[in-house]
Amino acid sequence: MDFRFSEREEHFIAEVKAFIEEQKQLPGADDVFNPNREADSSLSDSEERRAFNRRLSKAGYLGMSWGEQYGGQGKEGIYDYLLNEELATVGAPLIGKGVGCIGKTLIAHGSEKLKQEFLPQILNAEIEFALGYSEPSAGSDLASLRLKADAVGDDWVLNGQKMWTTSAHFADWYWVAARTDTNVAKHKGISVFLVPMNHPGLTVTAIETMGDHRTNQVFFDNVTVPGDYLVGEVNKGWLYVCEALDYERFTLYTVGPIFSKFNALIESLKNTERNGKPLSEHPIIRSKIASIAAELEAAKMLQRRVISAARKEQVPTVEAAMYKLYSTELGRRLANLAMDALGPMSLLRHESEDAPAHGKWEHSYRATVVDTIGGGSSEVQKNIIARRGLGLPS
Ligand SMILES: Cc1cc2nc3c(=O)[nH]c(=O)nc-3n(C[C@H](O)[C@H](O)[C@H](O)COP(=O)(O)OP(=O)(O)OC[C@H]3O[C@@H](n4cnc5c(N)ncnc54)[C@H](O)[C@@H]3O)c2cc1C
Repeated sequence: MDFRFSEREEHFIAEVKAFIEEQKQLPGADDVFNPNREADSSLSDSEERRAFNRRLSKAGYLGMSWGEQYGGQGKEGIYDYLLNEELATVGAPLIGKGVGCIGKTLIAHGSEKLKQEFLPQILNAEIEFALGYSEPSAGSDLASLRLKADAVGDDWVLNGQKMWTTSAHFADWYWVAARTDTNVAKHKGISVFLVPMNHPGLTVTAIETMGDHRTNQVFFDNVTVPGDYLVGEVNKGWLYVCEALDYERFTLYTVGPIFSKFNALIESLKNTERNGKPLSEHPIIRSKIASIAAELEAAKMLQRRVISAARKEQVPTVEAAMYKLYSTELGRRLANLAMDALGPMSLLRHESEDAPAHGKWEHSYRATVVDTIGGGSSEVQKNIIARRGLGLPS
């Protein structure tokens, strides 16, 4: 297995780094490049961040792996990954939802109308999407979702509730999975719709997570959707939802942010004294930080296995589960170590002037818990590894 990048790929990485350096000089850069927002830093939830996406588009970084007939460049998916890794490392918004999951699903299954309407807007970074899958009784067991879509003439009328929809408070369009048939096996009665987020029948209310990440619940009250905003075929939604996850395999799994946090911790340990000596000279802290350094390399290799399998057109389900499980739990261990090492003052929140590292670790301690749930909980990742990787019974 060769985990190195080719010369062309290394050249591309250098080009992206230079682009980011240029962008850091522009007004609003503090908002665009902000790793301290933790998981939230991947979102395009401000005008500065959306303007940055438009500059990414102008520079030709959106839709690189789409076919040329759709305005893309026909490049391998690895380039989307390399771009995202650089963006994630500096806390900039990521490409993925629009270009990866929704764009690629529309290319594979969408009608001409949906392709013509949405693909150019995605490529030009003109629209943001929210993904409406989870519901109060359907998270890990997503196929149990109950939001109902009834056919009424040529339209569909949606009623029910979605839960945990990140981005619903600023997105333009909602990519929604709904139940269109209750008389078949649960995963066979689901369809996907595109709904404008400003539809009068939608009510969005905030859920503030313990990690300061805003997500939302969304209520549907007779939301009428014209028939041509059904994606692909009726009752094929489960296939599209699963496929969309595959399309994201190059863009979802970045390892850069955890390395950035580790480097920030090392700096803090060098610059914080206890009993007249920097914490970095404390033998117990050195031993613990060395262990984390080894674990980080393990996380990087697990992530490279996802990329390596994806490059070979394999679906890296087990590799992705191992990486998600290991890296998000490692994020928690890193925050835990930082809090232990920096001492009781590290419990102070960023609002307090005395908070070490401006409260970064107290925030990270809370936010990393959320990372182990969103996108599939740690327990669910373990189930995938046991069942699909080890062949153990369900
Ligand atoms: C910050 C955040 C943002 C999110 N953003 C979105 C979004 O934009 N769009 C969207 O659709 N969803 C989103 N989600 C939802 C996320 O995908 C779900 O929270 C996740 O899949 C878990 O589902 P649940 O919360 O319903 O928990 P449940 O599935 O009810 O699980 C509860 C507990 O039971 C455990 N559990 C469940 N099933 C099993 C099992 N078979 N074996 C062992 N243990 C099990 C879980 O690990 C968990 O500890 C987001 C979640 C969070 C926290």
